[in-house]
Amino acid sequence: MTTTTTTAQTTRVLNTLKHTLLSLSLISSFNLLAQTQVIHAGTLLPVAGKGTLSKQTLVITDGKITEIKKGFVNPNDINKDAQLIDLSSSFVMAGLMDMHVHLQGELGPKNDSQSLRMSDSDALMQSISNAKKTLMAGFTTVRDLGASAEQIFALRDGIAKGWVDGPRIVASGSSVSVTGGHGDVDGLSPDILAMRTSKTICDGPFDCRRATRHAIKYGADVIKITSTGGVLSDTNTGTGQQMSDDELKEVVNAAHALGRKVASHAHAAEGINAALRAGVDSIEHGSYANKETVKLFKKSGAYLVPTLLAGNTVVEMAKHSNFMSEAIKLKAIRVGSDMTETFKKAYKAGVKIAYGTDSGVSHHGDNGKEGVLMAQAGMKNSDVLKSATVNAAELIGMSASLGTLAPGKIADIIAFDDNPLKDIKALLDVDFVMKGGKVIKN
Ligand SMILES: [Zn+2]
Repeated sequence: MTTTTTTAQTTRVLNTLKHTLLSLSLISSFNLLAQTQVIHAGTLLPVAGKGTLSKQTLVITDGKITEIKKGFVNPNDINKDAQLIDLSSSFVMAGLMDMHVHLQGELGPKNDSQSLRMSDSDALMQSISNAKKTLMAGFTTVRDLGASAEQIFALRDGIAKGWVDGPRIVASGSSVSVTGGHGDVDGLSPDILAMRTSKTICDGPFDCRRATRHAIKYGADVIKITSTGGVLSDTNTGTGQQMSDDELKEVVNAAHALGRKVASHAHAAEGINAALRAGVDSIEHGSYANKETVKLFKKSGAYLVPTLLAGNTVVEMAKHSNFMSEAIKLKAIRVGSDMTETFKKAYKAGVKIAYGTDSGVSHHGDNGKEGVLMAQAGMKNSDVLKSATVNAAELIGMSASLGTLAPGKIADIIAFDDNPLKDIKALLDVDFVMKGGKVIKN
């Protein structure tokens, strides 16, 4: 009896030991197989806004750039298992970053019925597809500023874990907005409105402080607020200031205290200015500005995220489709055309600009069109590329790992056949995408 027990125990101990050794050997073989990739870059733009280099070799190990060498170095000279990626006739730069998207859905005539017919899981599947389109378009990082919190946080985390392919996501979840304002639900029957009102809708400074903390507790990386009315809310509430000064200040203080930046949707000048005075980190759209607006931008160091593509898209939709209500159409035509004029003024005055499309208003995967519109409005091509890399990385506080190509940076790398510094339309045709060392498109 004793002998049997001892034998059984010994077998168990041996099995455990074998299992441990097997795990250890697997781990060590993974380490030995640290993946090295070597990119031959015909034209390399290491830092947008600065010069290009020709014929460079990028060495990538385990998803990070480890070296950048002059000339085309033979991969075998770096590591005998190194894999060569030949971009010797391409323009190579850091992955693009879109600071304003809504991965959950796309604007269209069926929005209302879809939102009632689709389950949360259906909507999440749609978001996964939109995320993939965005990544394939060369956008390796996005900031999602408004979605159902649980869905977008699940998508963000699923992508980070490698379960599905998509851009790195910095997400706000549902926006902190006031009752009846832009960001609150509208256009549905009262019982459905009540059911769908988010816990981040608030009134008064104390309640808005609660809403901000609530958003952070459930996973917000950034706080999205709507300090003015919006084009797409189906209410005759205009595009003027909707969050009061004390509400704005309270949200910014609560967010900053918990280490989160604040992005404010804002159209009318008084709303933009109030948000800037309250200390927000970026103004989204910024359609109307007055003289004080530029001064406040420069004083606060906040970024403007222009979303010209959204302005363009809603103007086209208002003119050529009939699913928008009259209230929306009127706002769309007015705001859409004025947005570009304000962008021109802000750019000339030296306001910091970060690239953002508001995709979800436009089609996901068309994110490159924003750059074309920015260039058409007078922005230098090199500044367009900078706004989508260096500036965007700074806005989300990730300059140490993203936005440029240098040793130590995450290997988010894209390539074009054509040179976007010469023709910005190259942004519409990204030929190669690598995210964190994984080749997504080649
Ligand atoms: Zn938006």
